[in-house]
Amino acid sequence: MSKVLVINAGSSSIKYQLIEMPYEIKISSGLIEKINERGTNLTLHYNGNKICIEKPLSNHQEAFHFLIEMLIKNNIIGDLNDIAACGHRIAHGGEFFKNSVEITKDNFEEIKKIEYLAPLHNPANLQGYIEMKQLLNNAIQVAVFDTSFHQSMSKEVYTYPIPFKLYEKYGLRKYGFHGTSYRNVVNRVREMVGKEKQSRIIACHLGNGASIAAIKNGKSINTSMGLTPLGGLMMGTRSGDLDPSIVEFIAHKECLSVEDVLKQLNKESGILGVSQISNDIRDVRKAAMDGDNLSKLALEMYAQRIASFIGSYYVQLGGLDTLVFTAGVGENDYRMRESIIDKVKDALQIELDDEVNCSVMATDAIISSKSSKVMVLVVVADEEIVIARDCYDILKSKL
Ligand code: ADP
Repeated sequence: MSKVLVINAGSSSIKYQLIEMPYEIKISSGLIEKINERGTNLTLHYNGNKICIEKPLSNHQEAFHFLIEMLIKNNIIGDLNDIAACGHRIAHGGEFFKNSVEITKDNFEEIKKIEYLAPLHNPANLQGYIEMKQLLNNAIQVAVFDTSFHQSMSKEVYTYPIPFKLYEKYGLRKYGFHGTSYRNVVNRVREMVGKEKQSRIIACHLGNGASIAAIKNGKSINTSMGLTPLGGLMMGTRSGDLDPSIVEFIAHKECLSVEDVLKQLNKESGILGVSQISNDIRDVRKAAMDGDNLSKLALEMYAQRIASFIGSYYVQLGGLDTLVFTAGVGENDYRMRESIIDKVKDALQIELDDEVNCSVMATDAIISSKSSKVMVLVVVADEEIVIARDCYDILKSKL
């Protein structure tokens, strides 16, 4: 048995799960929030217990030291040698990384080389590796990339219709993200439905960040995010796809730099930007129910954009066997699922089982009726288990 520590390090937070492999037992999970702000919070779950601690931690190094200290203090691990592998979620793997890899000196250099493709994400993700490598001498360190699942897209899908030399010079192309979540979806679809329903899947990962993927025989053939996670669907705070000339228009009219406009499109747009209430669909739905028209518009736009991608991917897949909803909104918001299905059900001959759909929250389920031509599933997002499996496979290959 091997304990695998799965790390998702962001710029001000660290999420972790400790998983016993190969039995896939989740021993502990938790979150360190607001690193470098006043009052960092650590929340740690294990054995049915929940511990919350507030402690000033001024950087990732202090945060990782504190996390390990708490794992040992609470007897979740005996000592540092208990951890056999540490898996890091890395946002961008460029074209170089088509699979998960052990982070050797050479691989580290390759990951550093593509940092310019994801300046908002990769540096914080790599910080996790740098700190854990120092702390855990005996564990292997593994990088699992959000982009690698989509490396199977064809050239005409991933190439942007701009001067080709920009691709040649900088690798400017569509990469796509949420790949680890889509791999989890593919695994769960295989377990939940018969063989005849597995070959053409459209998966909607609807969290705060949101994307959609067309998956044929287990491989991604298209996805909505692009060079960065800003493209594609309307999200909690991101705009998704726009007419590109809007960037110059806003910069000119509002006297903003390109960086400021992009900040607006990343952090102040989407559901938040249109509703002017919140990026959280729960708040926006409540406001819509209380009669707020912009909140109603935001929710309609959100569903409409997803429906429009579903239509396009239906054609690209040459039909559809299974439609999947995953992540925060997809798992929990039955009204959003219903509203999306309403827009595509006649064309795609989908029939929801309304009673089942209404009752499903944060659990795997089939929510279509028996007579539906397309199966509709809810799958609980579990990127951590996919990362732990990759770590374990690499561990085994070294034995
Ligand atoms: P992240 O992209 O941060 O990993 P999650 O997958 O955890 O996000 O999804 C977070 C989002 O899920 C929240 O912003 C919220 O909009 C949405 N969400 C969570 N629970 C519900 C719910 N019961 N109803 C509607 N939306 C929900």
